[in-house]
Amino acid sequence: MATTGKIGVTTENIFPVIKKFLYSDHEIFLRELVANAVDATQKMKALAATGEYKGELGELRVRIELDEKKKTLKVIDSGIGMTAEEVEKYINQIAFSSAGEFLEKYKDQLSSIIGHFGLGFYSAFMVADKVTIETLSWKDGAKPVMWSCDGSPEYEMKECKKEDRGTVITLYIADDEKEYAEKRRIEGLLGKYCKFMPVPVIFGKEQEWKDGKYVDTDKDNVINKVEPLWTRKPADLKDEDYKEFYKALYPMGEDPLFHIHLNVDYPFNLTGILYFPKIKNNVEISRNKIQLYCNQMFVTDSVDNIVPDFLTLLHGVIDSPDIPLNVSRSYLQSDANVKKISTYITKKVADRLDEIFRNERAQLEEKWDNLKLFIEYGMLSDEKFCDRAMKFCLLKNTEGKYYSIEDYKKGIEGEQTDKDKKVVFLYATDIESQYSFIEAARSKGYDVLLMDCQLDSHFVNLLEAKVENARFARVDSDSIDNLIPKEDKIKPELSEEEQKNLSTIFTTVLPKDNEYHVHADNLGADAAPILITQSEFMRRYREMSAMGGGMNFYGEMPAMYNITVNMENPLVAKIMEASSAHKDNLEAFAGENEILKQITDLALLSNGMLKGKDLSDFIARSAKVVENAYLK
Ligand code: ADP
Repeated sequence: MATTGKIGVTTENIFPVIKKFLYSDHEIFLRELVANAVDATQKMKALAATGEYKGELGELRVRIELDEKKKTLKVIDSGIGMTAEEVEKYINQIAFSSAGEFLEKYKDQLSSIIGHFGLGFYSAFMVADKVTIETLSWKDGAKPVMWSCDGSPEYEMKECKKEDRGTVITLYIADDEKEYAEKRRIEGLLGKYCKFMPVPVIFGKEQEWKDGKYVDTDKDNVINKVEPLWTRKPADLKDEDYKEFYKALYPMGEDPLFHIHLNVDYPFNLTGILYFPKIKNNVEISRNKIQLYCNQMFVTDSVDNIVPDFLTLLHGVIDSPDIPLNVSRSYLQSDANVKKISTYITKKVADRLDEIFRNERAQLEEKWDNLKLFIEYGMLSDEKFCDRAMKFCLLKNTEGKYYSIEDYKKGIEGEQTDKDKKVVFLYATDIESQYSFIEAARSKGYDVLLMDCQLDSHFVNLLEAKVENARFARVDSDSIDNLIPKEDKIKPELSEEEQKNLSTIFTTVLPKDNEYHVHADNLGADAAPILITQSEFMRRYREMSAMGGGMNFYGEMPAMYNITVNMENPLVAKIMEASSAHKDNLEAFAGENEILKQITDLALLSNGMLKGKDLSDFIARSAKVVENAYLK
């Protein structure tokens, strides 16, 4: 006999509410229904395994059947099924009321929760205006039951004809949700949410190319891999398997650099595979995202609140039933399990890198340029990771050799310790434009690092704080003798007036749009007459503020250069001597002095600062100098 009843919810009509709140995420209904079917199937397997069920198991598969014309979608399983009492309890009372409570409780934050957490069975009503359940329980003597509901809180339940164990859920797709009655859309959703579910999921037949078109074969089309790589033992897997799995996850992606297989079951349960992708020189590249699964069911690909920010640069899969999905995103971060998971993953990533550093050093060096940005980002943003990474982080020098920080420091200690006993790490940011400075350092027997990555201006500051007794100096920020001062050298002593005159002479011939600090130094008779440098401090802050470090004050100031005049250079000596006769009008003197023009232009040229008319004047003047030297 058929019974009717009112669903156990207080809200008069829950369905408009469901539809309204879940507007953007209607598609998850399919995941929810397939997940229920998979659960019921797994439970059946468990009953057989414990011996509680002794009959035939039959083929344990979940089938999705779509009738595009009738606009019906069926999810069919041969799982445990439900008795009439169970339908009454799980569907009419518990599920409905929990859906109601859920909506009541999370009304304000629903949009941020949904997508993680469905409303289970009732999410079917987001896309269907009528849903039926036909089910036969595995239990001896159970009678098949048919339940149907057309979206009002009233349902109907009656006995029906169903011979085989399991459940058939039929959705009559609503007119305004027609897309869910299209084969391609359903295929897409199954690919997104069910690709790795642990029971075979079948949608239609495999196709073959015949007589100029695709036709169905008689082989079932299984859309999932029931044993995805992360559920298997690392010992059974080869490098190739990991690469292949990566391709399956990101068909367009370039081969990853390394992988990590995660597997822990206490104090929380988590499996997964993470990949280090090639990052090159840009953090903002479109990120292939880490996918989060819960027992092989796809949940989301936004893991922002679950792993530290720098780890979101990694690719791959995390599967954990212990990440609470039915809470809001902001709550996630403070969840104790999530914190533990995040710490665990960070630790695993550091462990793996450390292992690569120790056992696969050549590989690490080869891949370093593509890995470096990720590691620097991690070190800058996560203190614990940074402390670990100080061991395996590599430094690359301008000759393309790689060193651990510790080894590098040991290597340069002998030559590059200054008079205050600080070890000076010299670095360049661009080999081409800083070439002459790099050469000057090398000629002294010093080594120069290459720091040409997007985060390096921040990273240099970090290293300075972390490496004991060390200082970093960009090669072009001063004369090499001043960068690593050895003993107190005798500096030229200038009176206030002499200093002022020196400034006037040189600023007259330098480009007008910058500021200059001109000072005299003794760099030796053979060294260049003038050196143009930018103070390390100012430059770092300008660079950091350009990257958005909140120090805009420095970003807006005109560029400030140090002009070091080498008083021991004979050309300088000649200019200074000639100037003494023109103390009243130094500017005019400087403007007309060819040697002065030529040596400042040469200094500008070696810094890449000589442009436009100044450059063409310089070339004309140089041509004359050459003529004079060779022809006259
Ligand atoms: P949840 O799956 O989160 O418990 P649902 O609303 O999806 O919530 O389902 C409620 C209950 O109905 C399930 O716990 C299960 O007992 C039962 N159920 C749903 N679908 C099936 C199915 N295909 N086979 C057997 N039981 C089912």
